[in-house]
Amino acid sequence: MPLIACPDCNQRISTVAVNCPACGRPNLPPQSYESESSGILSLLQILIIVAGVIIAVLFKANGIGALGYGLIVLGLLLVIFRVAK
Ligand SMILES: [Zn+2]
Repeated sequence: MPLIACPDCNQRISTVAVNCPACGRPNLPPQSYESESSGILSLLQILIIVAGVIIAVLFKANGIGALGYGLIVLGLLLVIFRVAK
């Protein structure tokens, strides 16, 4: 069980500890930050795709509809890029 130094009180704590036993600081695993940011990114991807669909449907008759298809492709590329990583 590896030990790390608590960022607040410098006490050696286990990497799997929920809180620092000395000062009570929550010991968040590094991947929790990553999943948070990826959640924001996937929300952005959904918004891009939804906006693309709306623009493509609403402006199908004129040239702006192509912008909607562009946004859909951009959103799907971002999804593929995330999955590939
Ligand atoms: Zn501490």
